Amino acid sequence: MPILTLKPGREKSILQRHPWIFSGAVADVKGEPESGETVEILSARGQWLARAAYSPVSNIRARIWSWDEDETIGEEFFYKKVKDAVETRRELKDLSGLTAYRLVHAESDGLPGVTADRYADFLVVQFLTAGAEHWRETIVCAFLEVTGIRNIYERSDVDVRQLEGLGVRSGVLFGDRPPEQLEIIENGLRFWVDLCNGQKTGFYLDQRNNRKRVRELMSGKRLLNCFCYTGAFSVSALAGSALKTTSIDSSRNALALAEKNVALNGLPAERAHWEEADVFRAMRALRDRAETFDAVILDPPKFAPTIAQAEKAARAYKDINLLAFKLLRPGGLLFTFSCSGGISMELFQKIVADAALDAGVNACVLERLFQGADHPVALNFPEGAYLKGLICQKH
Ligand code: SAH
Repeated sequence: MPILTLKPGREKSILQRHPWIFSGAVADVKGEPESGETVEILSARGQWLARAAYSPVSNIRARIWSWDEDETIGEEFFYKKVKDAVETRRELKDLSGLTAYRLVHAESDGLPGVTADRYADFLVVQFLTAGAEHWRETIVCAFLEVTGIRNIYERSDVDVRQLEGLGVRSGVLFGDRPPEQLEIIENGLRFWVDLCNGQKTGFYLDQRNNRKRVRELMSGKRLLNCFCYTGAFSVSALAGSALKTTSIDSSRNALALAEKNVALNGLPAERAHWEEADVFRAMRALRDRAETFDAVILDPPKFAPTIAQAEKAARAYKDINLLAFKLLRPGGLLFTFSCSGGISMELFQKIVADAALDAGVNACVLERLFQGADHPVALNFPEGAYLKGLICQKH
């Protein structure tokens, strides 16, 4: 097997079971491994450390599959990892009664680059790294065997694959093509999801608990929902007796589905106002008209996928949070999120604090919010905690 040898002293993070090996830590690669091929990882002194997937073009040069020298990377390995992921989720009582949730969450389930979301009878999978791509067929077989789901659809049509030297791809891997719209149930509410053309794998499953929280707090309130996608937060607010929801997104297709989602739940359409617009501009226009709201939700796309973009992203986050504080009435609630891997909770809270300062308002953090338990964070992989949120109250 090809061998990747580290520079002196660079084995520390691997001994702490962090799964990434950066290109800067690599001293030498022997055996000309191909993209995604398994390599042995050795310390500078020749000590065996791990078995990993090699990625020749990525800054993350290898991602570790196993720290066990006796473990072979192959069919049995992937079957076991998928089985573990499925079984640990069976223990989560809050997932029972749901028809959509994440079954495999990449590094946190010991499968770097592999995600799988269940939507009723369909599994939507992504292979995001060279290693995941290399073992794609074996992993699909493991899904079929372990989950019993007969319809598997691939949504590897995401930009991050470029970092691994991979192109985009989507399509049926097994069974039937998903219908144009598939109905799912979340927190007792029904939603249409477009698995083939929707964003990510169709739905932002990671916000489930936070939608529940919004529903609990919205009775009698006028909500501004920014970056609403298919309206899941707005539907949750209306189900919680919100007086009015104003929801903004730049995607016409997402808004069309959002309107249908209100109807699907028998909620009053006249309380739901939809606007196809750029949020930055729309919020400024609302401010110029001196409009106010009892609550604002900010759930923007990833402004900083990696740490390199953190500074530019920080300005964008600050901008919208500042506008949100201005649009809130005193006592109003701000639900503000960041799904950027490059922005930590501490940094995010600091950005929101700066926004409040520049808006000239006092505000408190009432709660910190996270992704749901079906998107777990392995303790050896803190980067897995990508979704952070705050509920702030303006004074
Ligand atoms: N809150 C949503 C998920 C939001 S995802 C939910 O719970 O389902 C981010 C959304 O922001 C996407 O729907 C995308 O279309 C939209 N978006 C991205 N940039 C935008 C912009 N500048 N103005 C308005 N919408 C934008």
